Amino acid sequence: MAFDLDIEGMVFDAARDGGASAHGVDGRSRAVAPTFTEDDLELDFSLRPKRLEDYLGQTKVKESLGIMIDAARARGDVADHILFSGPPGLGKTTLATVVANELGASIRTTSGPAIARTGDLAAILTNLEEGDVLFIDEIHRLNRMVEEVLYPALEDFELDIVVGKGPAARSIRLDLPRFTLIGATTRTGLLTGPLRDRFGIAFRLQYYTPEELALIVCRSASILGVDVDGEGALEIARRSRGTPRLANRLLKRVRDWAQVRGDGAITEDVAAEALTFFEVDHLGLDAVDNRLLEVLCVQFAGRPVGLTTLASALAEDPDTVEDVYEPYLMQQGLMMRTPKGRQATCGAWEHLGLTPPEE
Ligand code: ADP
Repeated sequence: MAFDLDIEGMVFDAARDGGASAHGVDGRSRAVAPTFTEDDLELDFSLRPKRLEDYLGQTKVKESLGIMIDAARARGDVADHILFSGPPGLGKTTLATVVANELGASIRTTSGPAIARTGDLAAILTNLEEGDVLFIDEIHRLNRMVEEVLYPALEDFELDIVVGKGPAARSIRLDLPRFTLIGATTRTGLLTGPLRDRFGIAFRLQYYTPEELALIVCRSASILGVDVDGEGALEIARRSRGTPRLANRLLKRVRDWAQVRGDGAITEDVAAEALTFFEVDHLGLDAVDNRLLEVLCVQFAGRPVGLTTLASALAEDPDTVEDVYEPYLMQQGLMMRTPKGRQATCGAWEHLGLTPPEE
């Protein structure tokens, strides 16, 4: 497909996670918002692992990536295009930078919503150098026109552009440097088939176990110079919803609490007391999650509830409920999606300290 080369208004390197609003949520006040908040800026800079060996957990993904990277390096070729999917905060961006570092390549970072026009993409692609890694976060939010320009770039490293306007317009084909695209998405289902097919390999990141997260907490604590023991790290890990971004954020909050209310050292009791103070309960649920369960169990007495009804009862956006709150509650077995609507499980009643109805 051809298009006008127009680099005016190019937005590059613009968005990290598209901001919290990318997932329809302003999670700034939630300690357990999985999306990127201003709180995380400092943490991201200092704590993000740079090499594969510092990237903890996701063992299978790491192993496959290691093989792929070694093979590409041995061939002296660029690596295949890679897709990472999974909930926010699990380490997709981090893995992209790790892959680039391991390949000895430079990384250019942008996001689906930041590439508004085909010209924006053309500017990005023509500025790449041989072997570069191009990281597109929230790749499911690319618009269709832009996507079509991306296809030949991914397959043949070629770009078709139209120069000039009206009768004088002519189409030219540009050769692009060979590069590796790394796409990240929280919603694989929203990716078009043709785009998905152009990735040589796709990985789905899983929630981390508390033990894996405890290792991440210990690594972060040693970088930040925080005094935390094994049980303290595990307590923070258990309340971090399987998500490294939250583990790091909660560590920072507990560190502050321990400095002001204690002697600075983080033990299991200190972590538990601090996180209760910040309204993060022993499963990592905060006030909004508990309110959601209450709406299902109490307000609707355990009957199935439609997404929009549930969202309006919480004064939230349906997308936010679906993308941000529900995945973790379902993963914890506290609620389920049924054809008739959302329903609480017995676990939800128990979690709220209530008796589930007989039936
Ligand atoms: P995503 O792109 O999936 O939203 P990020 O890559 O931005 O998530 O990760 C959020 C933060 O969590 C990073 O700043 C990094 O410090 C930390 N992190 C993520 N994955 C790991 C990991 N496997 N080991 C250590 N820290 C991690």
